[in-house]
Amino acid sequence: MHQKRRIEKSPPLKKDDLLVITGGGGFIGGNLARYFRNKGFTNVRAVDKKPFREWYLQVPGVESLRLDLSHEQNCQRACKGAVEVYNLAADMGGMGFIERFRVECLRSILINTHMIEAAAQAGARRYFYSSSACVYNTLLQKDPKVRALKESDAYPAMAERGYGWEKLVSEMFCEEYWHERGLKTFIARFHNVYGAHGTWDGGREKAPAAICRKVIEALDKQDLNIKIWGNGEQTRSFMYIDDCVRGIDRITHCDALIATPINLGSSELVSINTLVSKVEKIAGVKLKRSYQLDAPQGVAGRNSDNTFIKKVLKWEPDTTLDKGLAATYKWINEQFHARKKGKRVVE
Ligand code: NAD
Repeated sequence: MHQKRRIEKSPPLKKDDLLVITGGGGFIGGNLARYFRNKGFTNVRAVDKKPFREWYLQVPGVESLRLDLSHEQNCQRACKGAVEVYNLAADMGGMGFIERFRVECLRSILINTHMIEAAAQAGARRYFYSSSACVYNTLLQKDPKVRALKESDAYPAMAERGYGWEKLVSEMFCEEYWHERGLKTFIARFHNVYGAHGTWDGGREKAPAAICRKVIEALDKQDLNIKIWGNGEQTRSFMYIDDCVRGIDRITHCDALIATPINLGSSELVSINTLVSKVEKIAGVKLKRSYQLDAPQGVAGRNSDNTFIKKVLKWEPDTTLDKGLAATYKWINEQFHARKKGKRVVE
């Protein structure tokens, strides 16, 4: 048991305080940098190991650094002068990636291990960590008609192999850095995030982007078939990116949530078949479905129990899947056709 630490009030955040966002070349990190910039923050630093041409968003006015954050010194460089640190860097992808590349997923432990220490040494006031619903006990997710997962369902632990265990241990780092060292840490467990400026091709994409792309390809080739991973009955909830970045901001600035993992996800549960139907409707097409039963498909069902977030923040992600998917489809469609014309796009 740890002693309860007294929470000192932080000074108000100023618009020129330095906010450091790792994974800034990726989907959520890039959108978060843009969100803070749009809110008027003038001192935002985005850090990623990818070459700049591969970043989904390079936000004007945001300092961009290319650093591999699995190395301690690079984390120290990234955190220099930081008032708040948002760690969204991880080697990750959709089911197709995390089932096949468990070692890469586990090695992300290096990023959080060095980042949280560097943030503490730099005197950062707040540290946000992007965890995942993959920390939840997989034995509770064997039925598509799953009961929604609440925060206490992570223990007794039986996380997703590789990726989920890395997230769970990194959560523990965050909890102990608060209890032992007084760094205010915040931990959100994201449930499937989707939207524009994210991976839609190449093997790391997640279900909503993959389905949008497959529908667009079918229309383009006039081959009205679609291959679906699994039997299509597996269920998930999907959170739109705008809700995700808003939620990160709210969670990180709520002292009642220090060192306390919280679900950040939509509670609108749908099957993959329903997701396909929704994208078909947006595209105005009906496709013949074939099911790939040996493809990676993850747990049978997973949903976010939002009781806790509603209680603490009086808010929950609420963009409907129909609305979020329409915007996502439009963006991927533009990317697809730009690439076809030979223009450079980020996949
Ligand atoms: P993403 O792959 O688009 O972004 C992650 C970024 O981290 C990439 O740009 C990658 O280049 C960068 N990165 C990886 N290793 C790095 C290193 N050693 N040094 C510096 N940068 C490095 O993924 P995302 O969807 O934006 O996810 C952001 C965070 O949210 C991750 O921690 C992820 O595990 C978590 N998460 C995402 C989802 C989701 O649905 N997208 C769900 C649960 C959790």
